[in-house]
Amino acid sequence: MFEYTIKEKILNNKTILVTGAGAGIGKEAAITYAKLGATVILLGKTVSKLEAVYDEILALGLAEPAIIPLDLRGATKQNYIDMSVTIASQYGKLNGALLNASMLGELTPFTQIHEQIFGDVMKVNVNAQYLLAQALIPTLQLAENASLVFTSSGVGSKGRAYWGAYSISKFATEGLMQIIADEYENSTLRTNAINPGATKTAMRASAYPAEDKDKLATPADIMPLYVYLMSDDSLDVNGQTIKAQ
Ligand code: NAP
Repeated sequence: MFEYTIKEKILNNKTILVTGAGAGIGKEAAITYAKLGATVILLGKTVSKLEAVYDEILALGLAEPAIIPLDLRGATKQNYIDMSVTIASQYGKLNGALLNASMLGELTPFTQIHEQIFGDVMKVNVNAQYLLAQALIPTLQLAENASLVFTSSGVGSKGRAYWGAYSISKFATEGLMQIIADEYENSTLRTNAINPGATKTAMRASAYPAEDKDKLATPADIMPLYVYLMSDDSLDVNGQTIKAQ
């Protein structure tokens, strides 16, 4: 596991957007950030899941989160710009964005990749990430220091049989991250990617339905890296893909 000791209230006064905040790793990250003092903005596809996370955070007596229901498959460039402008006007700045939401599509031999599914995976995992980052950067730059975090995978740097569209999309994610990191190297914005490693979530279960899930890391187990990259302890880290496990 990535070695980092989480300090209490380390994210105090930070506003952090988490995509895919209704389930899996994104849900855990949103609640963890809120517990550490951040005000979180929960973006996701299924409103009921976002509301459940919102309720959980309020029940803990933490800062009231915001909910942004948005399907990354259908959202437009203008949707992202409007969202970013609203965040800027409501909070004055954005200290962090965890771009975590993505879709697996289907695991299939290369010759069988379905054009429609390939297109959907690219739309959600690549186009939406690029448009989100483009729209959010001006609001991230309003913060004294800001952290933009993409989500990659083991198949984002080494291709693997049958992982087709998803693997290709994660290679693109790493490219996107490196380009932004290089362009903003001497600025207040740092950009990195996380490779979560095998983690017990619905996505993992759909990729490996037969495995023993109790042997997997839980989303809670991998939080040290997620917190580190959002905290001021990582101010000098830029352009890296870091393994959470
Ligand atoms: P998950 O449990 O399936 O959660 C994915 C989240 O993304 C859900 O909240 C989902 O919302 C949201 N999402 C999916 N499609 C969306 C769309 N079109 N618009 C908006 N939100 C959408 O997956 P996870 O395992 O936590 O994965 C989180 C990230 O880690 C992903 O980028 C994944 O590629 C990466 N990752 C995971 C593993 C692993 O072992 N779990 C390994 C390597 C990388 P709904 O629930 O509303 O659909």
